[in-house]
Amino acid sequence: MRAVVLDGPGQLAAERVDDPTPTPDGVVVAVRDCGICGTDLHLVDGDLGTDRFPLVPGHEPWGEVVAVGRDVTGYPVGTLVAVDPSLHCGRCDPCRRGHGNMCLAWGAVGATRPGAWAEYTAVPAANLYRLDESFPLAAAPLAEPVACAVRGLHRLAPRPDEPAVVFGAGTMGLILAILLDARGVGPVTLVDTNPARRELAARLTGARVTDPDGVAGHRVPWVIEATGSPSAFTAALDCVARAGHLLVFGVAAPEATAGVSPYRIYADELTILGSMAILRSFPAAVDTLRRHADRLAPLVTDRFPLADVAAALALVRSGRTVKTLLTPGLGG
Ligand SMILES: [Zn+2]
Ligand SMILES: [Zn+2]
Repeated sequence: MRAVVLDGPGQLAAERVDDPTPTPDGVVVAVRDCGICGTDLHLVDGDLGTDRFPLVPGHEPWGEVVAVGRDVTGYPVGTLVAVDPSLHCGRCDPCRRGHGNMCLAWGAVGATRPGAWAEYTAVPAANLYRLDESFPLAAAPLAEPVACAVRGLHRLAPRPDEPAVVFGAGTMGLILAILLDARGVGPVTLVDTNPARRELAARLTGARVTDPDGVAGHRVPWVIEATGSPSAFTAALDCVARAGHLLVFGVAAPEATAGVSPYRIYADELTILGSMAILRSFPAAVDTLRRHADRLAPLVTDRFPLADVAAALALVRSGRTVKTLLTPGLGG
């Protein structure tokens, strides 16, 4: 099959590799689309500390089951599925306490085992979510990012009719803004330094969109940091009202730090929360996509064949796109 292989930081090429075969408890999925996200850029750049090269990236696939392991039931060939990439051991202390996303042996399809920037990907059947005949397939490529956003909002638990600010108008910021609005939280303001992103965000979300100056001095009860930038974290914390909540959703560099005022956290009774990847949020994400496909599906803005992965990554880095996909069926 054709697959995008990462041989080391920055060393990426579409190549021919062996077709995967299913493990006894897994299936092989023919990938219809697989998203590119900010985490993939970090992976490609080699700044996640991953050294499991060569690696086929890609953790946001959906597609069709084409081969089934001998112990798998319920996912016959032809079933359309979205894939939760999370791999939890189920045995370590965090897993046993119900925090599988904190698994001491945490892994993910497309990070610690071969992923889905490929024609086919082998995944455990336990990670599959069926997309039935009535599912709006235009929204299917967003299952994984929406599952991350649903997990984040589960952590934040914002109240309806209260204002929210989201820092970062990338794909995740837009999804979070749309889901906040769908829950009746608002008004929602999206903040981004990039004018191209702001223009796309205004068109696709209906939220108020501004540069950071537009929220300077504003304080709201619900704030989400979805950039990973330490300076945005500082600006986001400045934006939290008394007794307010900040969700740290963006992926900062592991060594990055940002100054905070302990006095303010004390005196203003601030709550600062983290949200890492997906935890039991995939079923809710599939349901959310079904109900809000009209608003979410337009976030898929670009599709590239596997051979054009370099152009696809360049577009993602430019900010002139929302969700860019690699689509093996486009050939090339
Ligand atoms: Zn992702
Ligand atoms: Zn574990």
